[in-house]
Amino acid sequence: MNLDVRTIMVMFAMLSIMFAGLILLAGLNTSKINSVKQWAIASLCIGIGLGSSYFFYTHSDGARIAVVLGGLLIALSIALQFTGIQSFKSERISYRLAAIFVVFAVIQTYWFEFQFPNVNARSIANSLLFSLGYAGCASILLMHVKPEFRSISSFTGIAFAGLSAILLLRAILIYQSPSSLYSLYTNIPINPGTFITTCLMQVCVTFGFLLMLNQHLMQEVKKIASRDMLTGAYNRRQFEEEIARLQSRSERNQDHFSLMLIDIDDFKFINDNYGHPSGDEVLRRLSQIALKTIRAQDYWARFGGDEFCILLPSTNADDALILANRLRETFANVTFMFGGKPNKSSISIGIADTWQVGLNYHSLLAAADQALYQAKLNGRNQVVFHSLEWEPQEQAAV
Ligand code: GH3
Ligand code: MG
Repeated sequence: MNLDVRTIMVMFAMLSIMFAGLILLAGLNTSKINSVKQWAIASLCIGIGLGSSYFFYTHSDGARIAVVLGGLLIALSIALQFTGIQSFKSERISYRLAAIFVVFAVIQTYWFEFQFPNVNARSIANSLLFSLGYAGCASILLMHVKPEFRSISSFTGIAFAGLSAILLLRAILIYQSPSSLYSLYTNIPINPGTFITTCLMQVCVTFGFLLMLNQHLMQEVKKIASRDMLTGAYNRRQFEEEIARLQSRSERNQDHFSLMLIDIDDFKFINDNYGHPSGDEVLRRLSQIALKTIRAQDYWARFGGDEFCILLPSTNADDALILANRLRETFANVTFMFGGKPNKSSISIGIADTWQVGLNYHSLLAAADQALYQAKLNGRNQVVFHSLEWEPQEQAAV
């Protein structure tokens, strides 16, 4: 092979330094800033490690120190990529494991450079250790990943698996080559071959990180667009998308669902007497209780003002009533401290289901609203199920 390993190293070093800046820029607006910093520093470490290694080698006095420095920086970059991924996934970060990895790499490189000089042994040992480090990065990217990150995480994970495989292959090839032939800077195929493929895989890893950050940003934007800021409940737009999905699913599977409309009783009184922040606290508290009360498949949304809604897939009237009463009672038992005095609040709930009303969204909502209106008429703090016997109510529009 006619490729010059030093040129490849310099290219690789410059690319890595450039990527560090790129990762930092791309990650400025995400909440995953810790991962971004770690990945950017990791890329910088590779760049400086390769760059200094090349520089010192051309000034032969420092060559042996450069080897140890290079070992330290590459190990540090792998450790930072590893901890950065853990931080991105909000997992517990194994700082101790990462530190042991770096210290081990330094001792190993120092040992085979100064104590027992052997280029082959050093290169094999480092290749194996780095291969192990990259395999660790691959495994956390390929396992236990949230569905929305699966494809991008797999891409980055496979790039890390590629790096691990290349370094393992490098260790085997060096082991098989005569010791007189091998040196880091000779143009035997092991060097340019593994350096080029490693460089390509690092490019893939960097793109993988950028795509992961992009995906994370998309998720954050989606969350903001679909949720109510104050309570964390889904907003009405998202609710309408969900009910349309549930309707077609129910039609397909001949299934039914219930819908609950919830309105806080005399909420204006709280706002007027204790101020808006107190009213906000009541809204937040109701949302917290509802999220704890409903099941994972139920859907909690804020319609606006003090009105909320719960979609209950595959739930009949009896089960919906049980859930509604549990929610009503739990909320009624909460004590709020407003103006230094204990206060209580309550909710009224209207329920309708598709067995009775049919799958039409507007009919269902009107039926639940009628039931809610009835609950208010009956004196508030109660649950009412829609009845077909009621006269259609003009005022019961949401
Ligand atoms: P009812 O028992 O009949 O429901 O009486 P109510 O006093 O609760 O009347 P209503 O449901 O119409 O009151 C809604 C009030 O909610 C009016 C509005 O000022 C207040 N509101 C709407 N959005 C917010 C909010 O985000 N925070 C606060 N604190 N108040 C809000
Ligand atoms: Mg109200």
